[in-house]
Amino acid sequence: MFQKILIANRGEIALRVLRAAKELGIKTVVVHSTADADAMHVRLADESVCIGPPPSRDSYLNIHQIVAACEITGADAVHPGYGFLSENAKFADILAAHHITFIGPSADHIRIMGDKIEAKRTAKRLGIPCVPGSDGAVTDEVEAKRIAADIGYPVIIKATAGGGGRGMKVARTEDDLIEALQTASTEAGAAFGNDSVYIEKYLEKPRHIELQVFGDGDGKGIHLGERDCSLQRRHQKVWEEAFSPALNAEERARIGDICAKAVADLGYSGAGTIEFLYEDGEFYFIEMNTRLQVEHPVTEAITGLDLVHEQIRVASGGGLSVTQAEVKFQGHAIECRINAEDPRTFVPSPGTITHFHTPGGLGIRVDSGVYSGYRIPPYYDSLIGKLIVHGRNRVECMMRLRRALDEFVVDGIKTTLPLFRDLIGNIDIANGDYDIHWLEKYLAESD
Ligand code: ADP
Repeated sequence: MFQKILIANRGEIALRVLRAAKELGIKTVVVHSTADADAMHVRLADESVCIGPPPSRDSYLNIHQIVAACEITGADAVHPGYGFLSENAKFADILAAHHITFIGPSADHIRIMGDKIEAKRTAKRLGIPCVPGSDGAVTDEVEAKRIAADIGYPVIIKATAGGGGRGMKVARTEDDLIEALQTASTEAGAAFGNDSVYIEKYLEKPRHIELQVFGDGDGKGIHLGERDCSLQRRHQKVWEEAFSPALNAEERARIGDICAKAVADLGYSGAGTIEFLYEDGEFYFIEMNTRLQVEHPVTEAITGLDLVHEQIRVASGGGLSVTQAEVKFQGHAIECRINAEDPRTFVPSPGTITHFHTPGGLGIRVDSGVYSGYRIPPYYDSLIGKLIVHGRNRVECMMRLRRALDEFVVDGIKTTLPLFRDLIGNIDIANGDYDIHWLEKYLAESD
């Protein structure tokens, strides 16, 4: 087991990882920018190292400084959280060269899944169902027309190096296609420094359903069920639940088995999420995230497993703590992302939190790094906390969520809490009847 873990992140996830390490009796080091000197994870860690000024590129993305912090403090492992360097293969390589364990999969697996075309090819080879589309990058207009005619319109043009929903364009007819191809490619070049794009069938009303998987790096793989993250705004998840209200037990078992077998065959190590679009009973692979996800607590709620403990265990060579047969699913869980944003326009609302009161009681979990008097710096993403509610079934979970939202107080800044208070009273949400466009439409209509 590790002696000392350095946490290369901030906010609620830094605190989340810190808690897991403490429980395992492992010493913790956190790094922070000058803007985060008062952050909760800095206060609670055994040691902290200031690694630079506020901008992420000078601090949380500064590999050189983070490695130096490991060497100064004698940390033998790094947990990257999510975002920042969590899917940076070069970072994993550099740590390995310094004999520091990266708590995550191998650099090779990060690389494969970071390239959308390579990821899709790998998924196909592993027997994971994919969206019909081009086999690789498309450069030629004639070829693009042939592929689009083959799979049928509408199609979506996506950036090979894509992320955050950028560099995507939908073409509904052949006339749209060439323009979409050029715009997507230009956008991709500007955003990612790589203008390569590919074509996929565009699904009109899919749900976003993702499978939590774990590999031991040695041929064993398990799945921990799915999460439904269809409620999104600008491709950003807002509300996540497990299980998905749309799947039946047979579909769940089928896709779960495929994913568990895929990570086993890949020799994958640690936590991963295989993301799908789901429409009319079919799953279509879109990408695999090779890290812990923001929404992992809903899976923890329904499995009773601590996913960060599991990550640390696997990275230290201790294997998985459970077999697939030992994974027992219980009840239903929903997570609401509390962002420091206007609940309608989603414009960030940094500032000082004058009063912060979290709900409690059975089945309620709040993961947050903020407190009364905390000043939210304007430099980072606006997630200030997550409310995770568990119940024996979806109805109980929703009743509890409504009550918890009533109790939650965040004063001094705007937050997305009022949006959730609206959603909880909506009939479609009550019925679990929503797709990935539902929230955008709801927001447009209720303007
Ligand atoms: P990124 O890495 O940029 O987030 P993804 O491939 O994960 O890109 O896609 C992001 C979102 O774009 C999906 O959650 C979905 O809303 C939409 N999307 C992607 N591919 C398709 C498709 N083939 N049909 C319909 N919507 C899609």
